[in-house]
Amino acid sequence: MVREGRSLSRRDADAPGVRTPYLPPEPLPDEDWLADDPLLRRLLAERLPARSWAALEPRLARLGRAAPREVDPLARLADASPPVLAGEGIAFHPAYARLQALARRHRVFTDAWHGGTRLSSLALGYLYSQAECGYFCPACMTDGAAVVLARRPGFEDVVARLVRDEPEGALEGAMFLTETTGGSDVGTTSTTAAPRGDGWALTGDKWFCSNANAGAILTLARMPGGEPGTRGLGLFLLEQPNPGLRFVRLKDKLGVRSMATGEGELRGAPARLVAGAGEGFKAMAEMVNLSRLYNAVASVAIARRALREGQKNGAWRVAFGRRLQDHPLYARAVAALAVDVKGALLVTLDAAHAHDRGDHALVRALTPPAKAVTARLAVRAASEACEMLGGNGYVQPWVTERLLRDAQVLPIWEGTTNVQALDFLRACRREGAVETLVRAATGLRDAWRAWAEQARAMDEASSLRLMTQAFHLRAATLLRDHDLLAAEAYALRHVARDEEAFERLAAREGAALAGWPSIGPREL
Ligand SMILES: Cc1cc2nc3c(=O)[nH]c(=O)nc-3n(C[C@H](O)[C@H](O)[C@H](O)COP(=O)(O)OP(=O)(O)OC[C@H]3O[C@@H](n4cnc5c(N)ncnc54)[C@H](O)[C@@H]3O)c2cc1C
Repeated sequence: MVREGRSLSRRDADAPGVRTPYLPPEPLPDEDWLADDPLLRRLLAERLPARSWAALEPRLARLGRAAPREVDPLARLADASPPVLAGEGIAFHPAYARLQALARRHRVFTDAWHGGTRLSSLALGYLYSQAECGYFCPACMTDGAAVVLARRPGFEDVVARLVRDEPEGALEGAMFLTETTGGSDVGTTSTTAAPRGDGWALTGDKWFCSNANAGAILTLARMPGGEPGTRGLGLFLLEQPNPGLRFVRLKDKLGVRSMATGEGELRGAPARLVAGAGEGFKAMAEMVNLSRLYNAVASVAIARRALREGQKNGAWRVAFGRRLQDHPLYARAVAALAVDVKGALLVTLDAAHAHDRGDHALVRALTPPAKAVTARLAVRAASEACEMLGGNGYVQPWVTERLLRDAQVLPIWEGTTNVQALDFLRACRREGAVETLVRAATGLRDAWRAWAEQARAMDEASSLRLMTQAFHLRAATLLRDHDLLAAEAYALRHVARDEEAFERLAAREGAALAGWPSIGPREL
């Protein structure tokens, strides 16, 4: 067991068993990702009804142990052998099928369909995606497709297969929106829909199609004689196998390499109408909004994993005669990251809880900032973790280089950061998001008042700054109910932006803020 704050003597460093001075690349044998996350446990125990928490806890505990032991090794294999086009289909490494099966069996995206809640489902997803971010994208789209289809009659058979908690007979979901004319500007969609028999036929090209092998794909197409822009778009269900859908190539991606992202050609592809002109885009937005929350969960998960790797390395690696965790600069970096991860986790899971309460106004106000700010945190955290591990952080088989590659997509897909800022601006101007956020705040009243004054005059240019501030205020406010020390540190870093005061706090309370793990080289 690692003891905190102790310098290594020469004898310690030479002790038997300390033959490799490096943190091993695989998760350590006793890692338990639920046990090492007291904030997650506390939040869930508080927010879920007692019976739901009692049912969820053993399943979370199982996944907390399975993620480092089973999911992580499979994720490494699937990342190293990405899918390829093979004849009419797509061939995957067998590890990918096992990742899919584990996700279903642990209900990482179906829990809300089997007696759970959005919060419980995303909490499971948070543990899973600390190990595998590639399949978490298909998981998210499968849940999202089910949500959209379940609200409309005629798709019951498809929904039942999407949300099965066993892999046998299950169906996967996808959403093909992006065309070469733009992923942000979806109103330029040029795929067309034409009636054929008692269904429809779609023709056009889709530029980014993740989970390309999915059986149930939602896609947008312009209705006959449809108006320009998003109003003329209908939403359709494409089912695979489909004689009119062909993938020209698979993207050669920086990260999330385990799952297939293709360029798709639709040539009179048979499809079923889900929502017609005027409604199609709105229906699609239901899925996109849920995906943004999933995106935030994946982002916090990557940041959490990055933090854990930095913590372990601090407890394990010795430089200049001391563990890294005993060096003030290293300790300060870990403390800062730990505080940021706590704030991000609270904002994200709190938004999930607002879903469960049916507080649509709060969900609307929180979704763009949660998506945008956590995604950039994931990239920063993964990058910092690479640096914390030194040279090993940049190379395989250490996980940090994969974390960085996987993280970089999070600010891009599901709407880039600027697109979130513009969406937040719309929510503030048209849907009262400023007042919603101020009303929901349980502390930091003066800071919220000052923010609201500026936010009421928000324009495009200031939207990103004010959205980011809203996120930080929300995080600092929520932390006050859970972890006073982290709340103080978070407010110093992101509300007052007083680095010097944070430094003093970190020097005094560094170990408590950083949460050094009880895992490490037992011999030390
Ligand atoms: C690995 C991967 C998988 C993907 N999978 C899917 C998928 O399954 N389905 C799908 O539909 N799409 C998918 N995408 C596409 C993704 O959603 C888009 O790439 C993304 O929405 C951005 O669209 P774009 O690439 O057309 O960039 P653009 O829309 O051209 O944006 C380029 C830049 O311009 C900025 N910008 C655009 N408009 C504005 C504005 N009004 N004000 C200020 N700045 C602006 C953006 O913020 C961005 O920085 C995937 C992308 C990747 C990388």
